Amino acid sequence: MDMKKLAAGNWKMNGTRAALAEVDGLGSDRVEVLICPPATLIAPLADRGSRVLVGGQDCDARAEGAHTGDIAAAQLLDAGASHVILGHSERRADHGETDAQVAAKAVAAHQAGLVTIICVGETEAQRDAGETLAVIAAQLAGSVPDCATATNTVVAYEPVWAIGTGRTADASQIAEVHGAMRQTLAARFADADGMRLLYGGSVKAGNAAEIFAIPNVDGALVGGASLKAADFSPIIAAL
Ligand code: PGA
Repeated sequence: MDMKKLAAGNWKMNGTRAALAEVDGLGSDRVEVLICPPATLIAPLADRGSRVLVGGQDCDARAEGAHTGDIAAAQLLDAGASHVILGHSERRADHGETDAQVAAKAVAAHQAGLVTIICVGETEAQRDAGETLAVIAAQLAGSVPDCATATNTVVAYEPVWAIGTGRTADASQIAEVHGAMRQTLAARFADADGMRLLYGGSVKAGNAAEIFAIPNVDGALVGGASLKAADFSPIIAAL
């Protein structure tokens, strides 16, 4: 089983072809490095011959067909992607994605041969109300499909209040949620010990080592700090 740690960059809706040069020096034998650029840059990045893995930021649950603007999992694979982020909180908020839709997308992605990075995370109001662990457990139950394995599925814990805000969850908060996620997944999946659990939310060079030392943190999903090699390289090095 591949238990390499994973440094995943989520470029969100940032970047044009000029940004691809940022990726050229990245890549590692020690850990997996993944860049998920906007869909327009997946094939150009994959064709660039860099050492990083390439992923999408979403896919449709349906096969190719009359669905204007959508992208099927098989098309991501064809463009050179090996991974796809699903259920990011920005998609849940901007597009009203539900757990059931995320799970259906994950099934389609697995059928196409993609590794899914399924995102969960509580809002600030949910944390303040003491609902964090219940919210995460419900999202895992609803978003991670039965066909998930340690090979085809990575789970990313991204507290919504920590994304792009400069605020990170503290070590005890991350340890609590990641430990609970491992237990919840172990109740359903025989190989849950091998499923990589990423933390995401304002990860940067200055906090990466502390976050990566937390039990059950097997890597990071990095937004803003993945856009520039100078910011992402030290995070990869800390893993
Ligand atoms: P951030 O984003 O690192 O900019 O906080 C993380 C994410 O949304 O994946």
